[in-house]
Amino acid sequence: MKKTKIICTIGPSSNHIDILRKMVEAGMDVARFNLSHSNHSSCHDAIEKIRKLEQEYQKTIGILFDTNGPELRLGRMEEDACFLKKGSEVKVYGMPILGTSTEFSINYANLLEDVSINTKLLLSDGKVVLRIVSKLENCLLCVVEEEGFVYSNRTVHIPNIRFNMDYLSEKDKEDIRFAVEEKVDFLALSFVRSHFDVLDVTDYLIELGDDHIQLISKIENNDAIEEIDDILKDSDGIMVARGDLGVEIPVEKLPGIQKIMIEKAKEANKIGIVATELLSTMEIDSKPTRAEVSDVYNAVIDGSDAIMLSGETTIGNYPVETVEMMRKIIISAEEDMDYISLLENAMRSEKQDVTSSIAYSVVDSANRLSLKAIVASTNSGYTAKKISRFRPKCPIIATSPNEDTVRSLALYFGIYPKLVNEYLSTDEIVDSCKREAIQALQLHAHDQIIITGGFPASLNNTNFMKIEEI
Ligand code: PEP
Repeated sequence: MKKTKIICTIGPSSNHIDILRKMVEAGMDVARFNLSHSNHSSCHDAIEKIRKLEQEYQKTIGILFDTNGPELRLGRMEEDACFLKKGSEVKVYGMPILGTSTEFSINYANLLEDVSINTKLLLSDGKVVLRIVSKLENCLLCVVEEEGFVYSNRTVHIPNIRFNMDYLSEKDKEDIRFAVEEKVDFLALSFVRSHFDVLDVTDYLIELGDDHIQLISKIENNDAIEEIDDILKDSDGIMVARGDLGVEIPVEKLPGIQKIMIEKAKEANKIGIVATELLSTMEIDSKPTRAEVSDVYNAVIDGSDAIMLSGETTIGNYPVETVEMMRKIIISAEEDMDYISLLENAMRSEKQDVTSSIAYSVVDSANRLSLKAIVASTNSGYTAKKISRFRPKCPIIATSPNEDTVRSLALYFGIYPKLVNEYLSTDEIVDSCKREAIQALQLHAHDQIIITGGFPASLNNTNFMKIEEI
């Protein structure tokens, strides 16, 4: 059983029950919906299918919505795409106009005031570059330095300029209301600039009466890198969103920043996700490149909780094969992980409390004795998360009577959550945990597992561990 989770973005290539079923069988743990590109009715339709598959496979599949965020975007272009020729002059407006190859607009009214001469505008993922040469009465005059096609509504990057936009637009609010209605488990917040942006979303969720959606801050600009410690404090996890981040910072800096961000997430006991272009060749080819295989392998070795597929599963020709390939690489990397060092390193930055001590002992025993599973009975999920933080070699089955807890654990390394009834005694915890492990892992006679939990539940604390033989 692999431990690093796979997030699959759902789109036209994958929003079919047969494809989704095969993706679940291949190892999809969380389905992502990118609200910059998907409409509510297609999301609702796909979520219904996924809920059916959850019942069919008795497996929790988390639902993650990815917001639009305060992005600068190109206005509408004639025929949705125009070619900008190197050396030509282009007028750029802050007020909407229908764009051509000589003028277009960006969705930011204060554009003229907030930028200076020689600032660069990066379009089409940084492939097309414009430089501002002067400010005219109501627009910017730019020269095209790198030519190429630009498309309606695509992101515009102007690195290192802090724009004065509210974090939550009306569209984002509408999407978050929809997320609450659909009872999604995770919200990935695009273009977070500081922890205040995360707090804006937390406040909005409180206003809507939601108390369970977990917030994943997407790290995709320099501000977020600088503010990472505060952002982590107020988020449940982070996503290294390499698509936009690779435009905002020099692309050669990306691997180093990825490692630092994932390490920081681990130290903070929060979810760490690596996203974008992990297997992008598989959008059009049934095999990845060697470099992509290394990229997936290294993201796992670095300690990501989850890795994410985007174009590969939204518009790619091989969505199922891509998930299968990702699972094979994950398993190979997990076989090579040094679990003893991972545990010792994690313990060094841990606070010493009862749950941490028990979690440490549980993982240490599981590793030394080659136990088949750790089964953690957990109310809030805290014990299971601690165990996941120590990166055990075997899977963690987390049982809980609380459905929100079960669903919240879908993105954590190694945790397979399971909804169970409330326990009435320690013996009942042990018996039920044994049953769940046998069922989830097809265990055999004499296999050994370790069970941990807390009883009575009112203690809100983990207070025992027990090694059991099947
Ligand atoms: C990214 O930029 O890598 C990313 C995951 O965000 P989006 O898909 O919204 O561009």
